[in-house]
Amino acid sequence: MRKLKYRALVVAIFSLTVLALLGFFGWRAYNEGGAWAAYQANGNIYRSGKLTRGVITDRDGEVLCSLTQSGAEYSADGLTRAATLHLIGDTAGNIAYGAVRQFRADLTGWSFTDGVSGEGGTVRLSVSAEAQRAAYSALDGRSGAVAVVNYKTGEIICCATSPGYDPIEAPETLPDGAYLNRAISAAYTPGSVFKLVTMAAAVENIPDLYERDFHCDGEASIGGGKVTCVAKHGDMKIEDAMAKSCNCVFASLAAEMGGEIMQNYADSLGFTSKIDVTGAVIAAGRYSGDKSDDIALAWSGAGQSDDLVVPMTLARYCAAIANGGEINELSFKAGEHGEKTRLLSKSTAERLGEVMGYTVKHSYGEDNFPGLRLHAKSGTAEIGGGKKPNSWFCGYIENEGAPYAFAVIIENGGWGIGEAADCARNVLNVLI
Ligand SMILES: [Zn+2]
Repeated sequence: MRKLKYRALVVAIFSLTVLALLGFFGWRAYNEGGAWAAYQANGNIYRSGKLTRGVITDRDGEVLCSLTQSGAEYSADGLTRAATLHLIGDTAGNIAYGAVRQFRADLTGWSFTDGVSGEGGTVRLSVSAEAQRAAYSALDGRSGAVAVVNYKTGEIICCATSPGYDPIEAPETLPDGAYLNRAISAAYTPGSVFKLVTMAAAVENIPDLYERDFHCDGEASIGGGKVTCVAKHGDMKIEDAMAKSCNCVFASLAAEMGGEIMQNYADSLGFTSKIDVTGAVIAAGRYSGDKSDDIALAWSGAGQSDDLVVPMTLARYCAAIANGGEINELSFKAGEHGEKTRLLSKSTAERLGEVMGYTVKHSYGEDNFPGLRLHAKSGTAEIGGGKKPNSWFCGYIENEGAPYAFAVIIENGGWGIGEAADCARNVLNVLI
């Protein structure tokens, strides 16, 4: 009898172990089967290491690329091919974060019940092909990038980079950095657009910020060094310091708050770390509040010193300002977004939105952006070496049907309110 009990126990333990393993395998197959099926050794769906099924479209269903037995078939239109290449990926795999690689599990058309039978899946990207074409044309061969996000949903509406190339009629020698998606993978000296970060810190750490009278003589002495402006801005309140983009005011505010506070804001607003989004990783920028002298810290508050900003990260920050401080984490897939992330308190976001609206009204001119209800900040980032400054423009538009935040950079483009603003206007006009 005792022996029988012992055997029954052994059988029961064995059965439970088998059941548990089956359950575990089934659960993994359900969750990760798409990735297993997409493994490159799967001869059913790959030829010479390339996926042979699946369709990639823009957010409106325009086909950007079909994967077939004979290779990748890009759009029939040359401008569309060049303007969307970095989002799809090149055939040799030199471009990081192309949809062919990032969404290959969806492209196989794998399902838990049917496996990889059938024609493959369709991946609908969040970007608008029309906006991509407008941005690529506006960049006009100059190095730079255009990033636009929907601040209500977190979908990336435009992620254009230049120089690019037509994958079907590629020149023998590609332009320098043609594989690089500058909107998400390049970091630049921000210049005055970084005053929006210094402003967020000042709103929350300088209690009398809005009561203070500021004055600019065209230069200010800080810690034995000198900060300069392009003009004598005279007497002003904080709103006009932003509208006039006074270096002396924002550099002094950064020096007054100190490196630790500035660092905390640069970090928590996302400017110093990589950001995981659906379908890609946005590269980290750089900010260091740990400076050996006050003058370097002061200049860092005006976006100079060794500050570096990635265009998409700036668009993400503008999206948070537009959306009451909180965003859905960004996504390259239509209708999908990541977790909610709060970057700013609601009241700080409102303060920033107000001052960006004031800047458009009193400095850039609302008439120059008809119908856009624009809130914005320009940047003219000195990069030294006798080169023309980088031209930046970022902000958002107040539009129920088109809730878009954006950042544009044109390398060596000169004044921010010139080249980058023109480019932003072109793209936004297509989108509304
Ligand atoms: Zn000034």
